[in-house]
Amino acid sequence: MTTVTLQNLHKEFGDVVAVNGIDLEINHGEFLVIVGPSGCGKSTTLRLLAGLESTTDGRIEMGGRDVTTVEPKDRNVAMVFQNYALYPHMTGRRNITFGMKSSGDFTDEEIDRRVTEAADTLDIADLLDRKPDAMSGGERQRVALGRAIVRDPDAFLMDEPLSNLDAKLRIQMRAELARLHSTLETTTVYVTHDQTEAMTLGERVVVMNDGQIMQVDEPQVLYDFPENRFVAEFIGDPAMNMIPVDVKDGRAIHETFDIPLPSGNGQPKSNQNGAGDAQITDGQRAILGIRPEDLHLSDPQTNDELPTIDAEVNVREPLGDSLLLHCSIGNTSCNIQAEPRMPITAGETVSVTYDPARLHLFDAETGEAFY
Ligand code: ATP
Repeated sequence: MTTVTLQNLHKEFGDVVAVNGIDLEINHGEFLVIVGPSGCGKSTTLRLLAGLESTTDGRIEMGGRDVTTVEPKDRNVAMVFQNYALYPHMTGRRNITFGMKSSGDFTDEEIDRRVTEAADTLDIADLLDRKPDAMSGGERQRVALGRAIVRDPDAFLMDEPLSNLDAKLRIQMRAELARLHSTLETTTVYVTHDQTEAMTLGERVVVMNDGQIMQVDEPQVLYDFPENRFVAEFIGDPAMNMIPVDVKDGRAIHETFDIPLPSGNGQPKSNQNGAGDAQITDGQRAILGIRPEDLHLSDPQTNDELPTIDAEVNVREPLGDSLLLHCSIGNTSCNIQAEPRMPITAGETVSVTYDPARLHLFDAETGEAFY
């Protein structure tokens, strides 16, 4: 069993605090994705796991064993890097077998058996005799994956392995990585700044910012129940709209609208989802969050019971499968994802409605979600 546990993990580089107190348990066989903006500390966290950086403080356990100060080669993990890290003068086969050969732990027959098996799994038999400069980016990354697989590690540690590939190949390799994981079921920690990769590959996703974990959850839970403003804005494209309001007598009051907050809301998210326990107080400044696809152009025929908000359309962007409207609600910018082919023009004022259950409310100061 390769459960990986990080306890109070810290890493400082001089004055820079790269990782600032991470506690995390990664389950045996899990595909866990760490996502966050550039510089948030995700690669450093992975390098600490691999043993490529030493911890400033904290503890790392793998399979119940304290590996905090164990050498990288003795952790039985395999790293896959963004730049493939293949030796240019070696063939695919030599690149794959180099580590096994130099360890002296494997017979030639065992090495051959493992290479054949990895070549089958990754469909790279025809790359074994080629050198990296005669391979495409996707082929190089497959060979790099082959090198990771043959070692039969306890865990794969992947640092942005797809980011050097073009968009189409990235989607293809994403599916391939998912298939590989369902075949091998090896514990995998995967670092990316790409939220689509995080959402599609991760069984659970860790969102990091400033060296800290902002939320750990299944992808859909992150999307539906962000615990704070950072996660709400980071996950989702186009991003969730954030509208400053005052909360008074159960209503959200903005310069241009005054709408009832849904009944039953006001309960902290912790009741459903383990989030913080922020409580709304009357008169408080808050941020109303609503996703662009949760705002609907109101239909006077059917929606006359629902509260509406007026928005002025500044720019219309036809995206084919939807129409993205860049709008202003008073002085607040706001995006609405409407049905395609709607006859709406820039300069027009539209009236929008929403499902109250899809509203989010955040503390304006701490960013913590009330719901
Ligand atoms: P990116 O997506 O840009 O790779 P990241 O989230 O992976 O970013 P890290 O590479 O972990 O971020 O870096 C976290 C912080 O630590 C950054 O401020 C970075 O500049 C700093 N840092 C990382 N490695 C070193 C180092 N070897 N020496 C000094 N500072 C470092």
